[in-house]
Amino acid sequence: MQASRLLGRSLVKPRPSVLPRSHLARRWLSTGPEGASAPPPPRPSFWKRFLQVTGSVTLVTVATGGALYYVAQKDRTPGPQLPHDPTKKTLVILGSGWGATSLLNSLDTVDYNVIVISPKNYFLFTPLLPSVAVGTLSPRSILQPTRYVTRHKKRQVTVIEASATDVDPTTKTVTFADTSEIQGLVSTTTIPYDYLVFAVGAEVQTFNIPGVREHACFMKELEDAEKMQRRFLDCLESAAFPGQSTEEIKRLLHMVVVGGGPTGVELSGELHDFLEQDLRSWYPELAEHVRISLVEALPSVLPMFSKQLIDYTESTFKEAKIDILTKTMVKEVRDKSVVLQLPDKSIAEVPCGLVVWAAGNTLRKVTRDLMAKFPDVQTNRRGITVDECLRMVGSNGSIFAIGDCTATSYAPTAQVASQEGAYLARVLAQLAKKDEAEARLRELQAQGADALSPEAKEEREQIEKRLAKLEKIRPFKYSHQGSLAYIGSDKAIADLPFFNGNLATGGVATFLFWRSAYLSTLFSMRNRILVATDWLYVKLFGRDVSRE
Ligand code: FAD
Ligand code: MG
Repeated sequence: MQASRLLGRSLVKPRPSVLPRSHLARRWLSTGPEGASAPPPPRPSFWKRFLQVTGSVTLVTVATGGALYYVAQKDRTPGPQLPHDPTKKTLVILGSGWGATSLLNSLDTVDYNVIVISPKNYFLFTPLLPSVAVGTLSPRSILQPTRYVTRHKKRQVTVIEASATDVDPTTKTVTFADTSEIQGLVSTTTIPYDYLVFAVGAEVQTFNIPGVREHACFMKELEDAEKMQRRFLDCLESAAFPGQSTEEIKRLLHMVVVGGGPTGVELSGELHDFLEQDLRSWYPELAEHVRISLVEALPSVLPMFSKQLIDYTESTFKEAKIDILTKTMVKEVRDKSVVLQLPDKSIAEVPCGLVVWAAGNTLRKVTRDLMAKFPDVQTNRRGITVDECLRMVGSNGSIFAIGDCTATSYAPTAQVASQEGAYLARVLAQLAKKDEAEARLRELQAQGADALSPEAKEEREQIEKRLAKLEKIRPFKYSHQGSLAYIGSDKAIADLPFFNGNLATGGVATFLFWRSAYLSTLFSMRNRILVATDWLYVKLFGRDVSRE
């Protein structure tokens, strides 16, 4: 009885409740007869409660703001770094995408003199690229300058904005060129490497279909998304030009997305959102005429997802009036139309304003050239063949290859590339230890076996044992964290590995999960805040329709 009274008191007294009086009385009553007879405590005045709440809110705001400011300042003001050390090996990393950036994030740069070479001086968060194409996100929100990573490393990392043009595995050198608009007196050079990490990704595959390069937009690089946004808005404004026939308006507003993988599906969903949430307000007379078609050569879209989620996507698209054309092949892209081969093998020329090409990867020239230097072992046309430790077969362990430029049993995804990058950081740390042990062993051996003191002999044995362990590198193992895709109308689909089974879900809750998963995968707090702010901005003010 006593205990229940105490409990009753402690529940009510120190925390003034905002519940109505009658409710409070009922709670008192329910604590027992003694509680029932006690008088209700005096209610704090409105001002007291107001000050209490305001005080707590201010405290939380100041604490959060302070923490944020501290972290941001720490990010903005990197400290001094160790200089390059001529006794360390040189590690050259080609690329600044998923594989390379994940490697850089995990790498202990004390072990190596690291040089990063990439034509882009930033990392691009590709999964959110379709959102940039319709203005849901601003381009800068999904970029992370590579120097923001490297300047926080213990030892200096050299970042060079250039394209690798040639790798010579016999002399262990890499040649690269500044391919940007502005160049200095020197714009091409060759440097040596001890270890090379080849992470140059892939290019867009056009299957040599005529007109694709000339007339279609790609969805691979940041420029592609920006170009698509400009073209799409151009189509709208041209359709609004006075005197345009209905037929021409319909053509201009027909958007064809080629490729039913996650990129094509997400882009179609985003285009639909743009139409429903914004264009209906700003182009009311045109919105009715906007049509989105998704073309896929295979029998279904999203082949990597389970049947149930494919059906869900198809029905969501049907409701959203996005036409899915499966078993349909693009034969040619023209200035104002796309030529399709329909499932019954008939050919149709479909008028359209914009074609977005999101179909497949192919190797870059620098990758093909490197493979050609190992004609006996590098014969896979999909990419570089690597062993279980991601070493390029034929390179004697001095070249590693990760991500989309390799031919493995894994899909060409960011998830695979980033796990490979993180794995490689561990391998390189082990190799550094091995090199160090070998160097010490050579020193001891140089003294001659007879001249060694008993301690030195003991040390030699220890090193030999350690070396035997360090020789063995654990093979790379991919752990699939699930597949996610946004399908428009605030819905997403997810195939998640779950307790040895699979969880397939779709819908609004999955959409929120999709957003939080992407926010947490972004590499930096800065990007997380930028992306979250963009989402909020678009929720409040809608997407921008000004054409830059
Ligand atoms: P990339 O990330 O492409 O990086 C290659 C790097 O090499 C770039 O920095 C490039 O500038 C650089 N480079 C190019 N040429 C040279 C050269 N000659 N010398 C030096 N450097 C060079 N995957 C997922 O898992 N989930 C998704 O939701 C997802 N969505 C995607 C959406 C879009 C629109 C796209 C295009 C891809 C998406 N992917 C997704 C796939 C994912 O982006 C790739 O699998 C991943 O980028 C591969 O990583 P990578 O490091 O091999 O190549
Ligand atoms: Mg330049």
